[in-house]
Formats: sequence, structure tokens, C-alpha cells
Amino acid sequence: MADLTLRPAAFLDRDGILNEDIGYAHRANQITWIPGAIAAVRRLNRSGYRVFVVTNQAGIARGLYGADDVENLHRWMADRLAEHSARIDDWRYSPFHPEHQPERFAAYAHWRKPAPGMLLDLMEHWPTRRVGSFMIGDRDSDVEAAKAAGIAGHLYTGGDLDAVVAFLLEQTTVEKSGTGELG
Ligand SMILES: [Mg+2]
Repeated sequence: MADLTLRPAAFLDRDGILNEDIGYAHRANQITWIPGAIAAVRRLNRSGYRVFVVTNQAGIARGLYGADDVENLHRWMADRLAEHSARIDDWRYSPFHPEHQPERFAAYAHWRKPAPGMLLDLMEHWPTRRVGSFMIGDRDSDVEAAKAAGIAGHLYTGGDLDAVVAFLLEQTTVEKSGTGELG
């Protein structure tokens, strides 16, 4: 049954935030977790946040890999996270690229960051309180997408991601009541 509780959400870019950005990673053996990434997801889970991944995957439009590769990889990542009691609540990716087969993936053009489509789609599916919600990414396009979706955007420039998230949660003024401390 769907969880209809209004909650804040953390929108995480994937490449450069959860895993090292090596360029067009699409297999499990290409994944090196960012330091503190798994703990950061678990911290967000336990702080009553929903955690979403929003990732541009133009490698699909470029013909480097398929949507099934992306979805298999996300399942693998979800399994690794689960081994550490961490959970991504939902995932979105945009296969679109303006210069590669743009007609074929036109339906996802507005999902490609810096456009906010992936974030807005998640907000439609999950009751999300914008106050307290934020996005973390490693590019300006991540921050722009957050702003366009009406939430805070934070640029990650390195370091332990769990420490970054702990700091952000401290800075974020949210009424704790009703967010459900899930520890
Ligand atoms: Mg990135």
C-alpha cells in the first residue's frame, strides 16, 4: 500500500554522489561508492526523509547501454544499500540527450537536468513537503534542477557524504513532528 504521509525528500544525483563518476557507468563492476554515501542514505532514511535518485543517463541516447542496464544496475545498488539497512525509495533517470536520437526520447527531454522533470514527477508520486527537502549534486545542473523544482540545491565538492548530509540536516529547519523518526 502506498505511503501517503507528507514527508520531506532528499533528491540525490547518482554519478558523483553515490558512486564515483567515471563517465557512463552501467555495470556493477564500475561502481565505487563515494565515501560515506551508504551511511548518508541510511541517515536520511532514519531522519524521516524519503530518498530519491535522479540521474541523467544520456548514455542510453548515445547507444552506449540500454535502459535495462540502468535498471539492473539500480537493482544491484539497492541490494548493496539494503545490506547496510539503507534504502532508496524511488529512482528516476533521463535517457534524453539533445544531440543523440532526440526524437526517440523526446518524452524525457523535460526530465534531463537542469530541467526539474524527474523531481516533479517524484513529487507527484510521493507526497513531498518542499520545506526541508533538498537536492545534492556535483554539477550546477543539479542545483538548477532543484531550484526549478522549488527546493534547496546543494553542490557536493568532495569529502565524506554522510558528514555533508549530517550538516545539511542540522541546518535544515524542519518540524520534526510528523516526519516519523524511523531509527
Ligand atoms: Mg553527477
